Amino acid sequence: MAHEHPVAMSPCITCGRPFMYDPERVVSVLIDTATGWYPEPGRRHHAARVPACHFCVRAANVERRKRGLPLGYEGDTYADLVRRLARDEW
Ligand SMILES: [Zn+2]
Repeated sequence: MAHEHPVAMSPCITCGRPFMYDPERVVSVLIDTATGWYPEPGRRHHAARVPACHFCVRAANVERRKRGLPLGYEGDTYADLVRRLARDEW
Protein backbone atom coordinates (compact mmCIF):
# COMPACT_ATOMS: atom_id res chain seq x y z
CA MET A 1 0.00 0.00 0.00
CA ALA A 2 1.07 3.60 -0.41
CA HIS A 3 2.92 5.47 2.35
CA GLU A 4 3.94 2.40 4.30
CA HIS A 5 7.53 3.70 4.42
CA PRO A 6 8.54 7.22 5.39
CA VAL A 7 9.95 9.25 2.51
CA ALA A 8 12.53 12.01 2.80
CA MET A 9 14.19 14.30 0.28
CA SER A 10 17.60 15.99 0.52
CA PRO A 11 20.71 16.62 -1.61
CA CYS A 12 23.02 13.67 -2.27
CA ILE A 13 26.32 13.92 -0.32
CA THR A 14 28.29 13.07 -3.48
CA CYS A 15 26.60 14.84 -6.41
CA GLY A 16 24.40 17.34 -4.60
CA ARG A 17 21.27 16.41 -6.56
CA PRO A 18 18.15 16.37 -4.39
CA PHE A 19 16.57 12.93 -4.36
CA MET A 20 13.80 11.07 -2.58
CA TYR A 21 14.55 8.11 -0.37
CA ASP A 22 13.36 5.95 2.47
CA PRO A 23 15.41 7.24 5.43
CA GLU A 24 15.37 3.82 7.10
CA ARG A 25 16.97 2.07 4.15
CA VAL A 26 18.96 4.65 2.18
CA VAL A 27 22.73 4.24 1.72
CA SER A 28 24.45 6.92 3.79
CA VAL A 29 27.97 8.13 4.37
CA LEU A 30 29.41 9.03 7.76
CA ILE A 31 30.50 12.70 7.66
CA ASP A 32 32.17 14.84 10.32
CA THR A 33 29.79 17.78 10.58
CA ALA A 34 32.69 20.14 11.45
CA THR A 35 34.93 19.27 8.47
CA GLY A 36 32.55 17.78 5.89
CA TRP A 37 34.91 14.80 5.55
CA TYR A 38 34.90 11.23 6.76
CA PRO A 39 35.48 11.49 10.55
CA GLU A 40 38.90 10.88 12.07
CA PRO A 41 39.01 8.05 14.63
CA GLY A 42 37.74 9.46 17.92
CA ARG A 43 35.49 12.00 16.23
CA ARG A 44 32.71 9.60 15.33
CA HIS A 45 30.47 11.28 17.90
CA HIS A 46 30.67 14.46 15.78
CA ALA A 47 29.65 12.58 12.67
CA ALA A 48 26.26 12.43 11.00
CA ARG A 49 24.94 10.01 8.39
CA VAL A 50 24.30 11.79 5.09
CA PRO A 51 22.42 9.95 2.34
CA ALA A 52 23.90 9.18 -1.08
CA CYS A 53 21.71 8.80 -4.17
CA HIS A 54 21.41 5.54 -6.10
CA PHE A 55 23.29 6.99 -9.10
CA CYS A 56 26.34 7.69 -6.95
CA VAL A 57 26.16 4.37 -5.10
CA ARG A 58 26.00 2.48 -8.39
CA ALA A 59 28.75 4.61 -9.95
CA ALA A 60 30.98 3.96 -6.92
CA ASN A 61 30.32 0.24 -7.22
CA VAL A 62 31.28 0.24 -10.92
CA GLU A 63 34.65 1.75 -9.92
CA ARG A 64 35.05 -0.66 -7.01
CA ARG A 65 34.31 -3.63 -9.25
CA LYS A 66 37.02 -2.47 -11.71
CA ARG A 67 39.55 -2.24 -8.88
CA GLY A 68 38.47 -5.51 -7.27
CA LEU A 69 37.32 -3.77 -4.09
CA PRO A 70 34.37 -4.95 -2.00
CA LEU A 71 31.13 -3.41 -3.23
CA GLY A 72 29.10 -0.93 -1.24
CA TYR A 73 25.61 -1.95 -0.34
CA GLU A 74 23.13 -1.46 -3.17
CA GLY A 75 20.66 -4.12 -2.24
CA ASP A 76 17.00 -3.26 -2.52
CA THR A 77 17.41 0.16 -0.89
CA TYR A 78 15.79 1.98 -3.76
CA ALA A 79 13.90 -0.80 -5.48
CA ASP A 80 10.69 -0.13 -3.59
CA LEU A 81 10.90 3.58 -4.27
CA VAL A 82 11.48 3.07 -7.97
CA ARG A 83 8.52 0.68 -8.11
CA ARG A 84 6.33 3.08 -6.18
CA LEU A 85 7.40 6.02 -8.35
CA ALA A 86 6.58 4.00 -11.44
CA ARG A 87 3.13 3.21 -10.06
CA ASP A 88 2.66 6.77 -8.76
CA GLU A 89 1.76 5.47 -5.30
CA TRP A 90 2.82 8.52 -3.33
ZN1 LIG B 1 24.44 11.40 -5.99
